[in-house]
Amino acid sequence: TENKLSEIKEIIEARNVELLHMQFVDLEGTLKNVTITAAQLEDAVEGKIMFDGSSIVGFSPINKSDLYLQPDLNTFAVLPWSVEEGFSEARFLCSVTNPEGTFFEGDTRNVLKKTVEKAAEQGYSISVGPELEFFLFKTDEDGRPTVKTHDVGGYFEPSPHDIGERVRLEIYRALKAMGFTIEASHHEVAEGQHEINFKYADALTAADNATTYKWVVKTVAKQFGLHASFMPKPVFGINGSGMHVNMSFFKDGQNIFFDENGPLQLSETAYQFIAGLLENVKSFAAITNPLVNSYKRLVPGYEAPCYIAWSASNRSALIRIPAKRGMATRVELRCPDPSANPYLTFAVIAAAGLDGVNRELTPVNSVNEDIFHMSGEEREERGIESLPGSLEAAVDALEAGYIGREVLGEHVFNEYVALKRSEWDSYRTAVHTWELQNYQAKF
Ligand code: GLU
Ligand code: MG
Ligand code: MG
Repeated sequence: TENKLSEIKEIIEARNVELLHMQFVDLEGTLKNVTITAAQLEDAVEGKIMFDGSSIVGFSPINKSDLYLQPDLNTFAVLPWSVEEGFSEARFLCSVTNPEGTFFEGDTRNVLKKTVEKAAEQGYSISVGPELEFFLFKTDEDGRPTVKTHDVGGYFEPSPHDIGERVRLEIYRALKAMGFTIEASHHEVAEGQHEINFKYADALTAADNATTYKWVVKTVAKQFGLHASFMPKPVFGINGSGMHVNMSFFKDGQNIFFDENGPLQLSETAYQFIAGLLENVKSFAAITNPLVNSYKRLVPGYEAPCYIAWSASNRSALIRIPAKRGMATRVELRCPDPSANPYLTFAVIAAAGLDGVNRELTPVNSVNEDIFHMSGEEREERGIESLPGSLEAAVDALEAGYIGREVLGEHVFNEYVALKRSEWDSYRTAVHTWELQNYQAKF
């Protein structure tokens, strides 16, 4: 820590950093920040920066509103876009602490930390590689987002169709300057849809990276007058945006999902992990797919899953095993979408997989046919169940299951269920355009 701190001080000096953004996330994973000056660095590092938690979604009740920020020194980064203004700005991602210095139970970053520690007690370290897709939309005269995409490009299409190439290049530059290792960048299937992939990391770093990525993508898009959206299904009739989560467990520096002699070169642990996901996915879907809109993505025909099955290769399946083996062996869960809180998402996925490992579950057979084209009877015969069809069904399953309550802890669990129940209620009682179009003239 001492070394890291003096390194940070040197950078602050050399880059003329004047402002420090103390960032953290609320219950939904939305980035929050309070800005202090670099002169307050020592106080900040000692966890002395206080804020009012009562106005943060899912945090504390009014009677216990004073909370503190504990910056994670590993997340220090100079912002690439502030340099031109005469001085630089930097940021830290922070954990939230109680006045006594203990971890605040309402902070979802702490939830993931706890899950990581629990897995570590069994000797496992969790490695995560998320893939976040997004749309670039034009904005109107008032700067508000429209649903007009900025291009008509398709999968892997290069310029001249891909105006987004320019935007992606700038996102790449910014992320690289903030310490990301970028592995790929491409136009996605839908018009105006893009994906930039960064290197996998330990679960906490991966969640920090996903949070930073969303912020950087939105910030850079704005510089081009565009609106970047991580909404799961912004446009009817074309692909939505996913956040596929690739995960593996390491033990003593070895990827324990790999077994040269196992079926498909996967270990027994990998199969148990898959079985744990299949068993628990219904009850954690409310976390990985948190919006009313999330369930409009999980329908047949758009490369997003809706049935509970796994496959070595099939993209209609919920769980896929990418071809890479050895240290890169991993399980890809395809249901999560990028509106999910990455801290909670990685925590519930890891816990569900670990549940399968600890109970030594065996997954049902893989399904290698296109499930979208199976009849209902065929699916029933093969025991292929469906993901929850709505936020309401998902929240019911979250409450009925044990993974959520166990992983999230009482505070986050209660706040989350209450938030999602009220979200569903507000949607349920609203009158939508579809209803007017279909009913108004006819009845
Ligand atoms: N956009 C698709 C989804 O909603 C995924 C496409 C892909 O395989 O990258 O999950
Ligand atoms: Mg993709
Ligand atoms: Mg993928």
